[in-house]
Amino acid sequence: MEILKNYILGNWIASKEKGTSDVVNPANQEVLGRVPHGANTASDVEQAVAAATKALEEWRNTPVMKRVQPLYHLKQLLEENLDEIARLITLECGKSFAEAQAEMQRGIENVETACATPTLIQSEFSENVATGIDEFMIRQPIGVCACISPFNFPGMIPFWFLPYAIACGNSFILKPSEKVPLTMMKVFELIDQLDLPAGLVNLVHGGKESVDALLDHPEVKAVSFVGSTSVARYIYRRGAANGKRVQAQGGAKNPLIVMPDADMEMTARIIADSVYGCAGQRCLAASNIVTVGDNKGIMKEALVEAAKSKTTGFGLDEGIEMGPVITPESKARVESLISKGLDEGATLLLDGRNAKITGYETGNFIKPTILENVATDGDLIKTEIFGPVMSLIQMDSIDQAIEFVNQNTYGNMACLFTSSGLNARTFRHRANAGNIGINIGVAAPMAQFPFSGWNDSFFGDLHGQGRHAIEFFTQTKVVIERWPKEWSRKF
Ligand code: NAD
Repeated sequence: MEILKNYILGNWIASKEKGTSDVVNPANQEVLGRVPHGANTASDVEQAVAAATKALEEWRNTPVMKRVQPLYHLKQLLEENLDEIARLITLECGKSFAEAQAEMQRGIENVETACATPTLIQSEFSENVATGIDEFMIRQPIGVCACISPFNFPGMIPFWFLPYAIACGNSFILKPSEKVPLTMMKVFELIDQLDLPAGLVNLVHGGKESVDALLDHPEVKAVSFVGSTSVARYIYRRGAANGKRVQAQGGAKNPLIVMPDADMEMTARIIADSVYGCAGQRCLAASNIVTVGDNKGIMKEALVEAAKSKTTGFGLDEGIEMGPVITPESKARVESLISKGLDEGATLLLDGRNAKITGYETGNFIKPTILENVATDGDLIKTEIFGPVMSLIQMDSIDQAIEFVNQNTYGNMACLFTSSGLNARTFRHRANAGNIGINIGVAAPMAQFPFSGWNDSFFGDLHGQGRHAIEFFTQTKVVIERWPKEWSRKF
C-alpha cells in the first residue's frame, strides 16, 4: 500500500520519513492507508515552511477582494464532492454518513463566512485626533500559519482556520491527525484546483515530531490547535515560548441541567442526541446530566427509551445512527471508565459494553450506556470520557446545579433545559463555560461566532471562526499622520 504524500509547493511529494502508521477503519480494522510517522517528518515541515514563506510576498500584496475569489470556487468544489468526502470521514473516523455530511456542511459555512473578509478586515479611522493629525489602524497578515487538527472532525476543523488565514493574506500549513488523514487528502485534491500561488496552502503528515518542528520553526508565526487538553496546554506553552501567536482548543466535560419545568419528551430526545451523536466523540457532547427537583423518574425512563432506540453499526450502512469509537484502545479506556464509575458507587441503567455488531465483530463498538447515582466527586464525573456514556445526577435546586457546573475544570459547554426565562437568564449569566445552550444539546457556534471555550478547554485569547479568526490571523498596525499645514488648512 502506497504511503500518503505531503502536499508542498503545489505538488504531491513523498515524505522523507520511511516509518509509517496505519490509517484504520474503526468499524472493522481494515487498513485504509499508511501515513508517514517519525522523526524525519521534521524535514518535511522544513520544506513546507520554505514553500509557505515563498508564497507569502505575492499573496499579501494581492487585494483582499481577489484573495477571497478562490474561496467561492472552493465552496463549489466542496459542495460537489461533499458525499465523497463524507464517505471518507465515515470510513476513517467511524461516524455515521449523515453525521459526516453535516460535519462537512459546517466546514463549508466557514468558507462562506471567510468570503466576507473584505468587510470583516476593515478597520478604524479617526480624523483630527489632534489639530491636523489623523490616526488609523490597518490589519496586516502575520505570515506562515500552522494548524494541527484532531481525529474527531477531520473535515470540519481545518476550516475553522484555513479559509480565514488565507483570506487575511497568510500562507498555511495543515498537519491533520495521523489517525484520519484521508479526508484532507481529498480536500487538498480540490485545493489543488484553485487559483492560488504554489506553496500558499500545504499539507504535512506525521505526529509529535512534525508538530514540534512547526512549534519550533521561527518562520511559523501562528499556531491553531484543536485536540486533547494535555496536548493543547503543551502546544500553547511551547508555541508561546517561541514567540508565536497560539490558539489551542482542548478537551471537555459538558454538563446539562434539566429543570422540572422543561419539556421532558423533547429534552430526552435532545440529550440522547447530544450524548450519543458521533459516539460521544465530540468536544460538545453532553456527559453529565443533572436532573433538578422531582423530574428524575420521568426523565430516566425517557432517556433510557431514547438511548435504546439508537442504531449502532458501520456508518455507511443504511439507518445507522451511531458508529464505533476511534481505536480499540479508546474502547478499552471508555469501558474501564464505566467500570470505574461502578466502583465509585454508580449503578447501570443501560450497559453498552461488549457490544457485538453482526458483520463487524472486530469493530470498536460501544452501545449507549447510562449510569445513575454517580458520585459527584468521583473520576467518572470529572474525566472526559469521549464515548457514548451518560452519567445521571440528581440535585435539589438550580443554584446547586450551577455550582456543580462551575466546579468543572473544563468550560467548553453548559446547557439548561427549562421553560422559565428567569432560569435561562440566571444560567446564561452565571454558568462558567464558553458555549451555552438553552434548550439546546450541542451548543455549537455557527461560523460567524467564535468557537468559545473556557478554562482547560482553551488556551489563548482569540478562538477559531468568524471575527475572532480575522483578528487572530492579522496583526494590527496603528498609523498616525500629520500633513503640511497648508494641506490641512481647509479644516
Ligand atoms: P490529540 O490531542 O491526541 O491529537 C490532536 C493532534 O495533536 C493530532 O494532530 C496529533 O497528531 C497531535 N498530537 C498528539 N499528541 C501530541 C504530542 N504529544 N505532541 C504534539 N502533538 C501531538 O487529540 P485527538 O484524540 O485527536 O482528539 C480528541 C480530543 O480533541 C478530545 O479531547 C476533544 O475534546 C478535543 N477536541 C476539542 C475541540 C474543541 O473545540 N475544544 C474540538 C474537537 C476535539
